[in-house]
Amino acid sequence: MKALQKATAAFGLEWRDVPEPEQPSAQEVIVDVTAAGICGSDVHIYDWSGGYDFLRGAFPVTLGHEFAGRVATLGADVHTLRVGDAVFVIPSVECGVCEHCVAGRLDDCRDRRGIGMLRDGAFAPRVRVPAANCLTFPAEMDAGVASLAEPLSIGLSAVKTAEVSAGERVLVMGPGTIGQAIAVLAKARGAQVAIVGHNDAERLATARALGIDATLDLDGAQEGAMRAMLGGSEYDVVIEATGVGAAVQAGLDVLRPSGIFVVCGIHGKPISFDGAKLVRMRHQIRGTYRASRATWQEVRDFLIANHASLAPMVTHRLPLAQAVEGFEMARRKIGSKIVLVP
Ligand SMILES: [Zn+2]
Ligand SMILES: [Zn+2]
Repeated sequence: MKALQKATAAFGLEWRDVPEPEQPSAQEVIVDVTAAGICGSDVHIYDWSGGYDFLRGAFPVTLGHEFAGRVATLGADVHTLRVGDAVFVIPSVECGVCEHCVAGRLDDCRDRRGIGMLRDGAFAPRVRVPAANCLTFPAEMDAGVASLAEPLSIGLSAVKTAEVSAGERVLVMGPGTIGQAIAVLAKARGAQVAIVGHNDAERLATARALGIDATLDLDGAQEGAMRAMLGGSEYDVVIEATGVGAAVQAGLDVLRPSGIFVVCGIHGKPISFDGAKLVRMRHQIRGTYRASRATWQEVRDFLIANHASLAPMVTHRLPLAQAVEGFEMARRKIGSKIVLVP
């Protein structure tokens, strides 16, 4: 089969002929991919713009970690899934042998391997995954929307890390899919939510289609405009999902004393900010990343309950064969989530 792989530490991806996934081990399944989203991290890996050197040892590897599919083949000991089940897949695989895995604390595994990062992913017709990483969804639900589960899991982790609660004023920086997910999930908790981008007309339009009314496209310093978006002057919570270093100070500048600032973007370079101001304002900076298994279950419930209203997040669907075109669209910020369909 043809798979879209990263094979060298340089710009680009390669179409390579690879063997079909071998017979699953006892605890694994083979999934026929039905939809796989192009993530911002995939774009960074494509253009090799920093932050992903840890992949080198896995080259060549098939990318694609945000995906849905149908179970095609069951491993001998898999009893929780059936052939034909529609599933989305948790793309982080625990090692199973470190002290945390052995003790049952899978979320603390020290040696996890990401599907579509360190082991073959879903920019291919079929993929082999652990059965325990599959969450089922109703067959009538759109697979493209189901493939949003991974970015929604990141978004829900960010919202939990920020301890967003009803009535709070939340600023989301970065209107990509993760920022949209954060905004939607913060709003679902009853927060007032504003979202800002930078030359981001299309993705901000998607945010409005998702019911986030306060949007602002920044060019240059517009701190005053950013402050005033929800009719006030400061935010209780700022969540940064840009990966742009300058966004951190800009966000801290509009955060109330003792407010929580969550860094969710992947920063290719060290971040600098005014430490004295941070101390005097008692600002809390927190990092957030991969979701726990419990959070994934919440995402599944949220997706099933809200899949129709989340549909605007998927703006383009391309055949897998046109993947490189999709990556170029993503680089140029055309549309919002671009989903590849084998
Ligand atoms: Zn992703
Ligand atoms: Zn482990």
